[in-house]
Amino acid sequence: MLGVGWGKSGRGSKRSVAKDLYDDSLKFEAIINNIEDGVLLIDGQNVIRLCNPGAGQICGWSAEDATGISVEQVITLVDDKGQPVPANESPFSKVFRTGEVIHNNKANLLTREHKQIAISLTITPILTNAQVTDAIAVFRDVSEERAEEQQRADFISTASHEMRTPVAAIEGYLALALNDKVATVDNRARNYLEKAHLSTEHLGHLFQDLLTSAKAEDGRLTSHPVVVELGGFLEQLTNDLRFSAEAKGLFVEFVVGSNTTASRATEGGERVLRPFYYAYADPDRLREVITNLFDNAVKYTDEGKISIGLTGDDQVVQCYVRDSGQGIPAGDVPHVFQKFYRVDNSATRTIGGTGLGLFICRKIIELYNGRIWVESEVGKGSTFYINLPHLNNQKVRELQATATNNPQLEPINSIATP
Ligand code: ADP
Repeated sequence: MLGVGWGKSGRGSKRSVAKDLYDDSLKFEAIINNIEDGVLLIDGQNVIRLCNPGAGQICGWSAEDATGISVEQVITLVDDKGQPVPANESPFSKVFRTGEVIHNNKANLLTREHKQIAISLTITPILTNAQVTDAIAVFRDVSEERAEEQQRADFISTASHEMRTPVAAIEGYLALALNDKVATVDNRARNYLEKAHLSTEHLGHLFQDLLTSAKAEDGRLTSHPVVVELGGFLEQLTNDLRFSAEAKGLFVEFVVGSNTTASRATEGGERVLRPFYYAYADPDRLREVITNLFDNAVKYTDEGKISIGLTGDDQVVQCYVRDSGQGIPAGDVPHVFQKFYRVDNSATRTIGGTGLGLFICRKIIELYNGRIWVESEVGKGSTFYINLPHLNNQKVRELQATATNNPQLEPINSIATP
């Protein structure tokens, strides 16, 4: 059994309770004082009640100095650019507000000497009678790991950027060789060249995805958000995308609320009014996400239909891409948005892919404070949902005015007047 010895000091035997308590307290002190991780006990007023030497070492405070003062004075959290985390986003207040455990592997703190250190931070609430009375923060200096991660990301980013150029050239020459008007090849050679062309195309996509995911991870993904009216935007996009699905014999529809596009014109030819759904996002990035979900729906669906849909309420705009394909096993659903994750089945073995598409989609949607998830049933199909914050008409007008007064901002695309 793990931990043998901790409670086996002879309780119930002849040893005294006082001796037991003394031993327990010594053990507790030995652990707290010798552990390298920083450990803080924080009370309901955000005051540090216990600070171990590990915490002091990381923050540049002595454990005695740090005890009895506000945790925010000792742990100054900053973002990647060194800007202080706003008070209302501080995890130390959030843990008391929500009562939930907080994990943050990407946190940074400023030491007493104003040096920025990368930390991994976990704050656990302590509940007494269902009220959060105190919290325990455990943190670790992860500067080295973070620097290595950055180096790896930089390498992937540079390598994929450099390799895209020769791959594009090879792809171009193969396309020329396959073009009857430019070159003459016999049927056997054509067969090999077609295979080479397909593989080079795949390699090109892989490098492009690697580059985009490396950028998404270190916050270099370019984004020019504007007000987007998602109804018009998605209807247009559905029309642009439908051909690849129809070529495979799949039916494609666009649904707003409970209306399909087909039902939007009445018999007299009048257009049925639909609500406007506004969101603030870069239309190119949104197109990338929906195109990716749609391409997956086509790839993993043999028959039936694909629906692109839009609905929402005052708070959120919800887009979805639904297919009647093979579905995703329940055990894989929580992982499909992870980097390089591919469901291991006969379909993915024969259908090409990088396992990066959904990871990139998640990163893009998170840029706009949105959420993406999937609901799926094997044999019935999958629905990928995207929730974005819904802009009300007043916010739309404010953003439009800002864009008009600031010519440096992108023009507002895809917008219909409310
Ligand atoms: P890939 O390039 O492999 O398609 P993605 O990140 O886009 O990578 O998707 C990850 C995995 O999720 C896929 O390999 C596939 O197993 C599964 N998946 C994604 N979309 C669907 C879908 N519409 N139907 C069934 N499985 C899907």
